[in-house]
Amino acid sequence: MSESRNFIQDIIEEDLGDEDLKSGAYTKKMATRFPPEPNGYLHIGHAKSICLNFGLAKKYQGTCNLRFDDTNPIKEDVEYVESIKEDVRWLGFDWEDRLFHASDYFERLYQYAVELIKNEKAFVCSLSAEDVRKQRGTLTEPGRESPDRRRPVQENLDLFQRMRAGEFADGAYTLRAKIDMASPNINLRDPAIYRIRKFHHQRTGDQWCIYPMYDYAHGLSDAIEGITHSICTLEFEDHRPLYDWFLRELKISNPPKQIEFARLNLNYTLMSKRKLLELVEGGHVQGWNDPRMPTLSGLRRRGFTPEAIRDFCERIGVTKKDSCIEYGMLETCLREDLDKRCPRVLCVLRPLKVVIENYPEGQEEFDAPYHPSDPSNALGMGSRKLPFSRELYIERDDFMENPPKQFFRLAPGREVRLRYAYFIQCREVVRDSKTGEVIELRCTYDPATRGGNAPDGRKVKGTIHWVSARHSLSAEVRLYDRLFNRPDPADEKEGPDYKAHLNPQSLEILSSCQIEPSLARAVPGSRYQFERQGYFCVDSQDSTPTKLVFNRTVTLRDSWAKISAAL
Ligand code: ATP
Ligand code: MG
Repeated sequence: MSESRNFIQDIIEEDLGDEDLKSGAYTKKMATRFPPEPNGYLHIGHAKSICLNFGLAKKYQGTCNLRFDDTNPIKEDVEYVESIKEDVRWLGFDWEDRLFHASDYFERLYQYAVELIKNEKAFVCSLSAEDVRKQRGTLTEPGRESPDRRRPVQENLDLFQRMRAGEFADGAYTLRAKIDMASPNINLRDPAIYRIRKFHHQRTGDQWCIYPMYDYAHGLSDAIEGITHSICTLEFEDHRPLYDWFLRELKISNPPKQIEFARLNLNYTLMSKRKLLELVEGGHVQGWNDPRMPTLSGLRRRGFTPEAIRDFCERIGVTKKDSCIEYGMLETCLREDLDKRCPRVLCVLRPLKVVIENYPEGQEEFDAPYHPSDPSNALGMGSRKLPFSRELYIERDDFMENPPKQFFRLAPGREVRLRYAYFIQCREVVRDSKTGEVIELRCTYDPATRGGNAPDGRKVKGTIHWVSARHSLSAEVRLYDRLFNRPDPADEKEGPDYKAHLNPQSLEILSSCQIEPSLARAVPGSRYQFERQGYFCVDSQDSTPTKLVFNRTVTLRDSWAKISAAL
């Protein structure tokens, strides 16, 4: 993995002071956290944040907590909590015994709010959400103060306690910070810090009916956990003064420092959890783990490795400038990793029958290495036997009746090499009498070319893959493509509805593929290169021993690069 330095490392190194030259240890401790809201599944953008937070902690001998920012019960669900834990672990990170929840701190956060009230830094406001919005002002106009702003401390304490006790309806009151209605930063115009929500919480049940706002809960949760560097995405830059205000007013010692970085954007897909949820709920995909989704569970099911995703996150680096990364870059990282680890096998996606007329009844076997860089099995990749017999399947695309000049595969009268086996020559084309479709090729083989070379030095230009019809297994193969057909589907310039840019060809199901028999016991999640076709993995959800299902993880080459270059 290549290592790229980033500005956050500079900040941390400055804060930690000198390393002990002998032990390499820092005298000061650093701590980060990854703080997902359990309101959806994690996506590849979250992976950037996970790699960054856990990665920095590792580098600087610190710790990284997993904290669920579960302050909005309406959108949260235990299903999301469980999936997030699974995904972080799968990516290769360990929070050890540091699994926390903002809801663990609800009582302390409440007490902090009481302290703010006592210090005349917060008040209970009876304005409706609508009125608060109207009085907030604009970028050029100051806001107007709430008539409740001067409510006496005792009255605020009493009302806040009664909010907690459930005496009031949702929306009847909010607790607001008392900061500055004329601040040029709208986030500082007396923002709400608590609201009433009579809603069951997935962890605290019905214990609470008031819930802290994200901005308030986040920084204080960081402080409670002793986080030193609170790393978040750029949209929180304007919230930093508020983050710092709470810490300062509550006299938190050694307050955490918020640092913002640019979020990951990838073309041809989306990163908004709200929109991803819409795709799931609208049936546009088959769930959060649909192999076309940019979610970690979708990428995992598609066949991505955690190593490839970590490598990608390292290579894209961390900056303060918004940008959009080419999807092809993610695939490049993936191909590099799969190339090293995947056994090569033969699979015919769209079978065309070939009968070798001069091949005797019976069969033979060829020894075929699983990996080209390991022909002698020094790496332990091994080899398998490929059975060969009189009737084979080849790829329909590997035959053309009237081939153009550049086509070097099979055609009437032409000779090609069958991978690991023999040269064969096409003698005759058999058609369906009704439709005229080519249904079979009659060929002959040259027994002297066993292993794929002619002793007379005769050359062929094409090598094609094949399976023995009697020995091969049928399988379903799902070919996936980009989920959207526009580089920036959510861009309003592309139209009001991103769903209009869903790629109708993003899934093609091939149900009569033929694979070599060595894959009979392929286990769910295992990955292979199907020679000439790409990298595939056994689907973890739908594949069974009697009906194998494969997902194409990625093609061997980037067929989209030209398209994006032309746009
Ligand atoms: P929401 O719109 O629901 O707030 P979110 O994507 O911000 O969605 P969180 O669960 O709050 O989701 O995110 C957890 C962490 O991951 C945050 O620290 C957030 O900054 C970071 N994160 C989210 N999206 C990206 C992204 N595209 N690139 C990098 N980091 C991200
Ligand atoms: Mg968020």
